[in-house]
Amino acid sequence: MPSLLNNDHAFEGANRHQVVIIGSGPAGYTAALYAARANLRPLVYTGLEPGGQLTTTTDVENYPGYVDGVMGPDMMDDFKRQAERFGAIVEFGMVTGLDLSKHPFRLVVDDATLLLADTVVVATGASAKYLGLENEKRLLGRGVSACATCDGAFFRGMDLAVVGGGDTAMEESLFLTRFATKVWVIHRRNSLRASKIMQQRAFDHPKIEFIWDTVVTDVMGDEEVSGVRLLHRPSGAERTLHVQGLFIAIGHKPNTELFKPWLPMDDLGYLLTRPNSTHTDIPGVFVCGDAQDHVYRQAITAAGTGCMAAIDAERFLANG
Ligand code: NDP
Repeated sequence: MPSLLNNDHAFEGANRHQVVIIGSGPAGYTAALYAARANLRPLVYTGLEPGGQLTTTTDVENYPGYVDGVMGPDMMDDFKRQAERFGAIVEFGMVTGLDLSKHPFRLVVDDATLLLADTVVVATGASAKYLGLENEKRLLGRGVSACATCDGAFFRGMDLAVVGGGDTAMEESLFLTRFATKVWVIHRRNSLRASKIMQQRAFDHPKIEFIWDTVVTDVMGDEEVSGVRLLHRPSGAERTLHVQGLFIAIGHKPNTELFKPWLPMDDLGYLLTRPNSTHTDIPGVFVCGDAQDHVYRQAITAAGTGCMAAIDAERFLANG
């Protein structure tokens, strides 16, 4: 969108906001809540998946305060309504362009709406990678999951499969052994990418067994997962593995593409912030949640950094 972004005339009539928050997961809505309570009337752009990753899970049982657990979409609706109660404005829309070299910052929403922002809070989160199978999508939340921490406890006493050969796959498999009777790790090659220590822990675990050189070609089940179809790549042999859950652990991708020209990121695309803060290299631009965290990736940690980002933005604005 370089032409619109460079059009000074077009931005002359644009609305100017003190705080624009990009993203509507726990980080974005918590930033909105705190900024709203600081009287900054934050504007939140939800992105294409309002509520973020939690809207693809069912029960959330590890968010403090929800004693009996809560459905992921309901929880995100609570977050939204709480922020709105104090004056946050939540708009469905995707920030499709931005220029962080000028202050106020310039943003383009849905390739059409122009706005100016004194501060920008990036809370665009990350997306779990999936295999791209039709039935995987259909059975998401009904046996297919990309988060063992979120969903593992629902699979007590069951046989499960985990796809992937990295640290996440090892960590998820080890975590799932707390509930499952058996965890099959299905990996497309015959050696793991995971760190040696994680590999060893998985190899040593009596409930974990590896299936090498194998890919999942289909997920079976009408209402819930009942098995996976496997293809052994070297031989071409196909078979069915009966499992009640399939955990996809082939990595996450931070949703940070838009910020590449402006903000430093690590090799995986996670945005870098200054230690113990949400500050980036650009004064007035703050990053929170999974867009900058590939270690914890929990709703509560995202909410925590969302709170930090709002406080950092408030202080930035107060110091003029
Ligand atoms: P990685 O990218 O490290 O690993 C992804 C794994 O999934 C690889 O084994 C890859 O196979 C496999 N894979 C990718 N795409 C497909 C596909 N389409 N079909 C089948 N398999 C696929 O991601 P992780 O999430 O595991 O880790 C990300 C980063 O986070 C790493 O730096 C990791 O070290 C770190 N991390 C650290 C932890 C810790 O220290 N406790 C815990 C979790 C993550 P292949 O190997 O063939 O490419």
